[in-house]
Amino acid sequence: MNNITLEQLLEVIKSYNPDELKRVEKAYHYAELLHQGQTRQSGEPYIVHPLNVAYILAEMHADGDTLCAGLLHDVLEDTEISKEQLAKDFNDSVANLVDGVTKISKMNFSSKQSQNLANTRKIITGITEDVRIIIIKLADRLHNMRTLQYKSEFKQKENALETMEIFVPLAYYIGTYRIKSELEDLSFQYLDPQMYQKISQKKNKIEKDNQSSIQEMVFNIEQLLDRENIQSQIKVRTKNIYGIYKRLKDGYKISDIHDLFALKIMVENKAECYQLLGMIHSIYHPINNKFKDYICNPKTNMYQSLHTTVFGPNDHLIQTQIRTYNMDKIASFGLATYWDINKGNARNVMQEDLKQKYQFFKSLVEINSVFGDNQDFINQIKDELFSNKIYVYTTKGEIIELPKGSTPIDFAYSIHTDIGNTMVAAVVNDEYVSENYILKNKDRVRIITDDLSFGPREDWIDKAKTTKAKRKIKEFNRN
Ligand code: MN
Repeated sequence: MNNITLEQLLEVIKSYNPDELKRVEKAYHYAELLHQGQTRQSGEPYIVHPLNVAYILAEMHADGDTLCAGLLHDVLEDTEISKEQLAKDFNDSVANLVDGVTKISKMNFSSKQSQNLANTRKIITGITEDVRIIIIKLADRLHNMRTLQYKSEFKQKENALETMEIFVPLAYYIGTYRIKSELEDLSFQYLDPQMYQKISQKKNKIEKDNQSSIQEMVFNIEQLLDRENIQSQIKVRTKNIYGIYKRLKDGYKISDIHDLFALKIMVENKAECYQLLGMIHSIYHPINNKFKDYICNPKTNMYQSLHTTVFGPNDHLIQTQIRTYNMDKIASFGLATYWDINKGNARNVMQEDLKQKYQFFKSLVEINSVFGDNQDFINQIKDELFSNKIYVYTTKGEIIELPKGSTPIDFAYSIHTDIGNTMVAAVVNDEYVSENYILKNKDRVRIITDDLSFGPREDWIDKAKTTKAKRKIKEFNRN
């Protein structure tokens, strides 16, 4: 295992925020002293863990408070120090971050005890007040998963399952795909080691078989771009093992997975993205129904890119993902990218955008306002946020994310209350469906409304899945 040293951490921080070096070094020595004598299961001194967590955060160009909190994230839990003392020795922000991370660690999703339920609710609503808590917790979980081999087999399975159920969705919701896919593969490796090995070997073989086609394609695209004088960078990525597993489970053969290989092509601006798309389609045949414009219609976690799968050299299927450099950063680190783009003001912009743009946050606020009972609240959170999702389209091609089991009623209310309240019929993929039709991935949904409709019937409440739809129907029928 290659562990990070303090010097390496400082080196990274120096490259983007040299003003914080002193404070980070102080936090390191402070944490080292407090954890003195404690060891990890691997036998190493405990400080190795917070140091690695801080390094993961530094790679995302985290701000000074977050870096300090990363180094100090386990001191409230594992040492005698108090939150007040931390606030004195650092500042309120660092103390609150550490406190927030400590609370998430104690969160218990499956407990039935009323005290635990109340705590869990407080923690879940609390993380929305400072999304940096989620990011630190994800870095913490990532390092723990990377070093899971030292734990007992029972602990390994337990942690892997919890990671899949809670932290993978959280990473997705704030758009940190890089952490999400690493967490998925690390968890999968413990949950189904044999399958993991099998797919991993297949993946290596197919990567080798496709290598020359991919290189040829990269070369051709680079030439095109050079000719047009477009500055660009191309990266090759293979789908992660868990991603491949999900497709195989759906009945695909590995060679039929259309986005098994992707070329990520970064250019300076949006106009060049579309220009490049045209150039690629002029030399490689696209598969029509695999084209996606996530630039015009971003995903619900603000991911933006153009996707097109083409028949590459030797008719091998290869996906191209065309995006600007900034979109690429968002695609890797999600909300955490704001540290890099917005510098000093990042925290505020993060919170503001989380509220305005990220669907996860809106749903959470909605659920919190509707459910008085803590057990109901947590059940709904599990059912609506930490469950499988489906993605459907409006007639304009916008993407709507809904929990699995949603109906056209949920769709209508997720677009606008008035649409739900005046809905008279629903059309899915050009066919009329009943209001309790269960929506499937990629359904194209059109809601037919009539201002003279009688409004939503009370029995729609049971046909709806989402909290928002249920609440709006109740409100309508109360009036
Ligand atoms: Mn930790």
